[in-house]
Amino acid sequence: MPPDPFANDPNDPASFLEPDEEFVPPTPEEIVALHEDLSNVRLFRSLLEPRGIRGIGMVCEDCEELHFYDWEIMEYNITSLLNNQAIPVHEPGAKTNPDHYVSWDYCLGYADAAGAMETRRWL
Ligand SMILES: [Zn+2]
Repeated sequence: MPPDPFANDPNDPASFLEPDEEFVPPTPEEIVALHEDLSNVRLFRSLLEPRGIRGIGMVCEDCEELHFYDWEIMEYNITSLLNNQAIPVHEPGAKTNPDHYVSWDYCLGYADAAGAMETRRWL
């Protein structure tokens, strides 16, 4: 992702889109998506944790840097949102080893492949 040209600009035209002070409860559509995310996270965890993957790395929408989220934190954050609780945006990740984290897309592909193998086993 290219760096935000307004990153250090106090007049960032998008800054009003970031309501940090006030928590906005998820919409019904977002709740459906969150439930889907939660079951995906649990599936990914069951597939990847035994292989040494500790969680998911994703680009932070606020600072546009890669942040790493352990499986527990992913589940906790999604559950918090479903309970109408705000979540901390920045997770402590100072001693994180990026090798232990994969992208969401990687997980989706991995789960697809694992599912395909699962199906083939019964043919
Ligand atoms: Zn960030």
